[in-house]
Amino acid sequence: MLPGAVIAANLAAVRARMAQAARANGRPSDAARLVAVSKQHPPEAVAAALAAGQYDFGENRVHEALPKIAALAGSAARWHMIGQIQSRKAREVAAAEFALVHSVDSVRLAERLSQAAGGRRLPVLLECNISGEEAKAGFRAVTESDWVSLRTAAAQVVSLPGLEVRGLMTMAPIVPELNAARPYFARLRQWRDRLAAELPGAAWTELSMGMSDDFEAAIAEGATLVRVGRAIFGGRG
Ligand SMILES: *Cc1c(COP(=O)(O)O)cnc(C)c1O
Repeated sequence: MLPGAVIAANLAAVRARMAQAARANGRPSDAARLVAVSKQHPPEAVAAALAAGQYDFGENRVHEALPKIAALAGSAARWHMIGQIQSRKAREVAAAEFALVHSVDSVRLAERLSQAAGGRRLPVLLECNISGEEAKAGFRAVTESDWVSLRTAAAQVVSLPGLEVRGLMTMAPIVPELNAARPYFARLRQWRDRLAAELPGAAWTELSMGMSDDFEAAIAEGATLVRVGRAIFGGRG
């Protein structure tokens, strides 16, 4: 684990770059919220970030997240689930009371989470595959021919009583330079705008996009949440 002072300095640098990217694109400097991705890092690294005023944390595996959440119970940490969730883990995810589940990637998973929500409404984002890469999870949202199935799936999820849909999430493909990622992020924003117009039953305010290598491009295209791991906590071995 990096020393706490290094984590604090990394956080300050990422926040400064986020504010700069927002202002450079005519957005308020606090337009995007930082989710610090703590996967594969110990609770002590999260505690160091908390001490530096970082409260939102992202985890991508349920079985890794649960003990970390327990280790930091009573702290001000807010937890975000950002990784693929197997349907049979829906109950555990719902019970963990994540502040936001970014990675709802099928209607079947959404139904399971809704059933497991136990009378509450679990805040979720719909993960979209905007590049068409086979290895990527998410609702396919690449070309115009994907629109009907995307809208149909989104309408089904929005109608579930145990979920509160707040927007979309994506992972851009790896590209050689920052600006090459922008069209992917713009595409997610455009799908979001269309879904918001068609399905007013949900808020559609959140766009979770951008990681260590591309968060500035995502903020330029309207990200409201960026998920940054390595630039804060260092490499994952
Ligand atoms: C690991 C991960 C991130 C953070 O990636 P970094 O490159 O470490 O910033 C963001 N989103 C998801 C879904 C991840 O799994």
